[in-house]
Amino acid sequence: MKAYSVKELLKGNHLLQEVAVNGWVKTFRSNRFIALNDGSTLTNIQCVVDFEKFDEKLLKKINTGAAIKVTGTLVESLGKGQNVEIQANEIKIHGEADPEEYPIQPKKHSLEFLREKAHLRVRTNTFAAVMRVRSALAFAIHKYFRENGFYYFHAPIITGSDAEGAGEMFRVTTLSDKNPKLTEEGEVDYKEDFFGKETNLTVSGQLEAEAYAMALGKVYTFGPTFRAENSNTSRHLAEFWMIEPEMAFYDLDANMDLAEDFIKSVIGYVLEHCQEDLQFLEKRLLDEEKTKPQAQRSDMALIEKLKFVSENSFKRVSYTEAIDILRNSKPNKKKKFQYPIDEWGADLQSEHERFLVEKHFKCPVILFDYPAKIKAFYMRLNEDGKTVRAMDILFPGIGEIVGGSQREERLDVLKQKMADLNIPEEELWWYLDLRKFGTAVHSGFGLGFERLVLFATGMGNIRDVIPFPRTPQNAEF
Ligand code: ATP
Ligand code: MN
Repeated sequence: MKAYSVKELLKGNHLLQEVAVNGWVKTFRSNRFIALNDGSTLTNIQCVVDFEKFDEKLLKKINTGAAIKVTGTLVESLGKGQNVEIQANEIKIHGEADPEEYPIQPKKHSLEFLREKAHLRVRTNTFAAVMRVRSALAFAIHKYFRENGFYYFHAPIITGSDAEGAGEMFRVTTLSDKNPKLTEEGEVDYKEDFFGKETNLTVSGQLEAEAYAMALGKVYTFGPTFRAENSNTSRHLAEFWMIEPEMAFYDLDANMDLAEDFIKSVIGYVLEHCQEDLQFLEKRLLDEEKTKPQAQRSDMALIEKLKFVSENSFKRVSYTEAIDILRNSKPNKKKKFQYPIDEWGADLQSEHERFLVEKHFKCPVILFDYPAKIKAFYMRLNEDGKTVRAMDILFPGIGEIVGGSQREERLDVLKQKMADLNIPEEELWWYLDLRKFGTAVHSGFGLGFERLVLFATGMGNIRDVIPFPRTPQNAEF
């Protein structure tokens, strides 16, 4: 007997045939109706059990969470809620689930409770839907780049350069934690370590991607990234996945065009291919919103919001214009911002980013030409000598989703910048080489994959869109 997926059977192509299906029991009502799901789709298949045909002992084992195989005839369903169902002839129990112990019962569980059960939470409709959308988005990303002439490039995960955000890195070492050899200055002697130098988990594959863009033209990374930020927000993970395209001969405008087109395209892909899951997530969100005060509810339902983003232009605004808007904004004048904006040069906090996107422009915003002082050393200096060709894309409900820039391709300017910031040239000698040998205008950006999944699923906490989240004080599973 051929076993089919639930998704395949629900299409109804195998009517009146003898079929088999494997899955996990969602519910078993009145000793008669099993709702079975195998993850292939949100909808369960109903299996009708004629209890006279089955051993009572066997029926007792069919509890929520049990893995079973049902063999029977696929028939049209007379009941409401489904078109087809299986008249069960044979049921095999793969594995039971003790109803006294199994935590995922058919009732509403809080997301906080489910985080403690991360190994089982994907058996709920919500997490299964989120993870299917996540998978579809990952595929859409590879598809987009492949169709647009990019090569998939694998940046190293262990890195020897700590030029980027030193304080936020996780150290990689095989040195003994008992009494590592010390240098004369009394510091850990990394010459004794596995790599003969201090190494860390990567915070970004960009610098390495630049090397590859300078030969392959257009490349992208899509891999795990690590930041030891102790921020504990609903937007930060210690381990997250980042997509980093890097393109030779692209200036900042071309970079912004690409980022916008890319995001619209992958959102469009899930709108087309994940309708069922998105409808479920939309309904879930609407139910959740009903419990909130009117003022905090969003004006758009999930699918409408995704369509809006995939069909409308992002608003492009320079940092300088944004500061003017913020400085004259109501919340700034009424001292509602935690960090008031008074001077040009201030770093934007997420409260400011969200004001611009959610209250002022009411659409995704691309901010560009930031003060050099608040951005990384590798961003290209503008003619004015004080701003750099940086761009951030800000999304409703999320804040920053993309951070990118045109890179400084001029050797002398880059060296000066590094000197100003006390970044030793020896550490980035190979990065400087890229400016010595066939340098060219080039650009790229980083998109946090989980922030994209947050947006696409309407979930509120980044811990709920990655299978096993790593955050401060939390690396269970
Ligand atoms: P933020 O200001 O939100 O901390 P960032 O300026 O540190 O972001 P970048 O260094 O530009 O971010 O990284 C590129 C992208 O990676 C960000 O736009 C965001 O989407 C994502 N990102 C950054 N840090 C995290 C994190 N800790 N967890 C998840 N995603 C992140
Ligand atoms: Mn950060």
